[in-house]
Amino acid sequence: MNNSVTTPTARYKPSRFNLVSWDDKTGQRRLLIYNTMTSAFVRLAQPAADRVSLLLKSGTPAAADAIIGALATQGVLVPEDLDELLLVDSMERYYKQRRDALQLILMPTEKCNFRCVYCYEDFVKGKMSDEVRSGIVRLVEREAPHLKTLNVAWFGGEPLSALGVIREVSAELIALCDANGIEYSSSMTTNGFLLSSGVAEETLGLRISRYQITLDGTASSHDQLRVLRNGRGTFDTIVANLTALRESRHDFKVRIRVNFTPQVAQEMPGFLAFMGERFGNDPRFSIWFHPVGRWGGPHDEDIETCDQQSAEELERGFTGAAADSGFPLTSWEQLMRPFGSTCYAADPRSYVIGSDGMVYKCTVALREPKNHVGQLSSDGDLRLREDRMAVWVSSGAQVDTGCQACAFRPACHGDACPLARLQRGGERSCPPIKSNIKKVLPLIAVRAGRQR
Ligand code: SF4
Ligand code: SF4
Repeated sequence: MNNSVTTPTARYKPSRFNLVSWDDKTGQRRLLIYNTMTSAFVRLAQPAADRVSLLLKSGTPAAADAIIGALATQGVLVPEDLDELLLVDSMERYYKQRRDALQLILMPTEKCNFRCVYCYEDFVKGKMSDEVRSGIVRLVEREAPHLKTLNVAWFGGEPLSALGVIREVSAELIALCDANGIEYSSSMTTNGFLLSSGVAEETLGLRISRYQITLDGTASSHDQLRVLRNGRGTFDTIVANLTALRESRHDFKVRIRVNFTPQVAQEMPGFLAFMGERFGNDPRFSIWFHPVGRWGGPHDEDIETCDQQSAEELERGFTGAAADSGFPLTSWEQLMRPFGSTCYAADPRSYVIGSDGMVYKCTVALREPKNHVGQLSSDGDLRLREDRMAVWVSSGAQVDTGCQACAFRPACHGDACPLARLQRGGERSCPPIKSNIKKVLPLIAVRAGRQR
């Protein structure tokens, strides 16, 4: 969104969505400004840095010049009479009311070939039934007249355990979208064990172009946390599959998710060296880090976790070290963009559909009754319970005074985790990057300089 007015006579004020930090790491003290509404990232050396820092504190600049004009173009300065709160309110209203986009997170099976130590799923439900498959296609048929985009995210259980369902439903949805001029995109969260080169070629052919695959550190830690049902390790097979995928000519992105415990953290230097050698400097591969939590599974009491402060410090260090091993800084950059820290559960046009047709909003709290928002019928009716939908999609920011004063709001909108908000009785839950932003900005500045 560009709110800039660059006429020399205009009067400006600092945007309320500026995040400001200093970079002392490169030997030259630079002022860093990131604007969450425009995604502009401004780096200023001296003497301009001190002047602009003062200007951002004191309010309206006294005289227009080239620097003022440039900052106004970036949205760091905005016209004095611009009401940025109204602007962000209308951005949220537009997002919540749009009808031309639809996201379906589909569980072709809720069974899994893994038994990860921290997993919260109960594997009671099996493969998606014929009625549900037909309901999904009928749902998109009903929506087609007003749709511009359809995004299908395959989830589970392990989705590749039900490749036949993916094959059949993808083919029907792609045909429907192509016939109606709807842009189709698709992704998959998979443990990667069944993603052999033949399967990968097939799923890429089904336009599944984004994959999230988990590796929890080196073989020694991963093979303790992410095991097959029979207890066998899975690291070597997943790495072999990723190595084969690297050779594919298809256009794809792989996000490697690393869930870390204190033990995984200790092994991170060796793991990043290993990964950097194989997948570093290939922009199709990125790495994201998440602390392991007690997510509601049967082994919760036995899991060693990091406390919040050390988890945040470790995550920051790992992300920086991954950039040094040749991986892009996409995790931070994506989280800072408009709507980048907003959960799909807050999007009224995003539905999770279980293998038995139950409709959810959140993929984590599958047993929470408030997350059971509907039941898909075979003729494509979602049969939504609007009272339960409202729990997830009522924007946190429009009723929360903290969010209204927050410079991170265009990225988060109070919707970083509606489940946490629900569990805290309506109190907001900020994404970790917000409290870390002063430390994150210099790291991005240094690494971006090196990667350029
Ligand atoms: S939840 Fe936190 S980070 Fe998000 S908009 Fe509200 S105050 Fe800002
Ligand atoms: S609501 Fe929270 S727990 Fe559920 S999917 Fe969103 S971020 Fe994850």
